[in-house]
Amino acid sequence: MKRIDTEAIVIGGGATGCGILRDLALRGIKAVLIEKNDIASGTTGRNHGLLHSGARYAVNDLESAQECIAENRILKKIARHCIEDTGGLFVTLPDDDPGYHRKLMEHCKYAGIPCEELSVGKALKIEPNLNPNALSALRVPDGTIDPFRLAAANILDAQEHGAKVHTHTFVTAIIQEGGTATGVHCHDTRTREDFEIFGRIIINASGVWGQRICALAGIELRMFPSKGAMVIIDYRLNSVVVNRCRIPSDGDIIVPGDTVSLIGTTSKRIEYSQIEELNVDDGEIEVLLADGEKLIPNLSRTRVLRAYSGVRPLIDVSGDVDGRTISRGIVLIDHAARDGVEGLVTIAGGKLMTYRLMAQMAVDLACKKLDVSRKCSTHREPLPGSELTMLPSKHIKYFTGIPQSVVGSTLYRHGERVRQILSLSKHNYALICECEMVCEGEVEYAIRNLNVKDLVDLRRRTRIGMGPCQGELCSYRAAGLFTRLKVATSDESNGMLIDFLEERWKGMKPILWGDGLREAEFTYWIYQGLFGLGDVAMRGEEGDK
Ligand SMILES: Cc1cc2nc3c(=O)[nH]c(=O)nc-3n(C[C@H](O)[C@H](O)[C@H](O)COP(=O)(O)OP(=O)(O)OC[C@H]3O[C@@H](n4cnc5c(N)ncnc54)[C@H](O)[C@@H]3O)c2cc1C
Repeated sequence: MKRIDTEAIVIGGGATGCGILRDLALRGIKAVLIEKNDIASGTTGRNHGLLHSGARYAVNDLESAQECIAENRILKKIARHCIEDTGGLFVTLPDDDPGYHRKLMEHCKYAGIPCEELSVGKALKIEPNLNPNALSALRVPDGTIDPFRLAAANILDAQEHGAKVHTHTFVTAIIQEGGTATGVHCHDTRTREDFEIFGRIIINASGVWGQRICALAGIELRMFPSKGAMVIIDYRLNSVVVNRCRIPSDGDIIVPGDTVSLIGTTSKRIEYSQIEELNVDDGEIEVLLADGEKLIPNLSRTRVLRAYSGVRPLIDVSGDVDGRTISRGIVLIDHAARDGVEGLVTIAGGKLMTYRLMAQMAVDLACKKLDVSRKCSTHREPLPGSELTMLPSKHIKYFTGIPQSVVGSTLYRHGERVRQILSLSKHNYALICECEMVCEGEVEYAIRNLNVKDLVDLRRRTRIGMGPCQGELCSYRAAGLFTRLKVATSDESNGMLIDFLEERWKGMKPILWGDGLREAEFTYWIYQGLFGLGDVAMRGEEGDK
């Protein structure tokens, strides 16, 4: 069996694992990351993308609130192209306890979170779609963060510093010798190859799957799987993050992101055996839309694009019903001290936006074990794309001859890497996705540089298929490019297209009414009625036989 030797093995390609890989690489430690699916395909790709100021946690969880505001400030510097510094409002509605407003202000002050009291008139000027019956408003430094870009940029930097990445590869066993974890057994689901990796330290950053990875090493770790649902609205209804000023509850955050807004979330404890069953039910959608409408009344008149859910990777504390009161705090476990298994460390809990801090904590511990003295630098080294070398307007001028909207969108998604993506050759800036203004050069860059193996991966790197048409008009063009770039055969491209449409369908199914239903029918008509895609797949299957 193939054997790879390294120093550190990272299990999980969510934000935490990607951040760990980067931190290891920047400290000169040879490292390999294993991800069973795609980068950011776990909880990292299934949240609000809210860059918390910490205000949401200020009343109940001071430690998390302080971590949030510290990381908020760091990420605004090192991850500029993954962040929109929108600002956020906490709004009290007539149904809410008016006393919570003052309480939140006091706790923010204590946690060191800037919090400014605004008149409702001023809040409405900042956010005209806000409920005009609001009683009071507070302004905090919330923002938005794109989890896909964030994870990809961390991986890109790690790879540029020598780290290796295996996506679509499961860790199926932890290899142990005399009470020490020395390696992992892996299975690549695409090539069906099995191989082993050996290293001096294994970092389990597999989020809510952490319990299963620990079980592979014979260790008991109980996660508290708390599911949250979210709904995406087909317009950017708000320009700043809008929070309801009350004890955290269902449907009280509306986050703008790229071309859409999303409303979240719910919180429901699920059985551990259900962590892969991420369906959203009618009740969850009803609650989210009803509560969202209270904050932004226009929400009920806007088309819903899709619904999705994620499971929080919290560590179990008995007595909690739905997970809202469990700390979002970071848990770092040295299994040598806790369970007598040397060479294995687990990091879990926390949030998307505390990924860097989590990575730093895990790598500090790894360094101690590996006797490496190099200090963390991820708090000051900008991610690839976030270096500030030129003003956006200068980039736009540099690409004279390419539509500004294409340059602007590429710049927005990839920051300073725009020069490696666009070139003046005409096919390079031909549009593949009109909703999100993704051009051919961007697709090629993602396929060649960002660990893209199929169309679903490409969606996470470029936003192809995330806009209003949900992949209806762009996915077949993108599938064709995989063949043209000679990274897939035409049969493989057809297979990717089917998988992509199936994947999009899952998110559209719970919200199929009105225009959404019409659009889904139209997509079906194009792909089955016009292209006969279902028949192509059947022919392929028969051919395989
Ligand atoms: C509804 C909801 C809303 C949220 N909103 C926000 C928010 O607005 N802001 C914020 O900061 N945080 C938010 N969070 C929290 C945040 O999303 C998570 O804390 C964070 O994404 C966890 O990242 P992670 O890398 O630790 O885990 P994951 O992203 O889950 O990564 C773990 C990875 O491990 C991989 N893996 C598992 N088993 C194996 C195996 N055997 N072999 C190889 N790989 C494996 C998985 O495929 C997965 O990709 C939210 C969470 C939820 C559920």
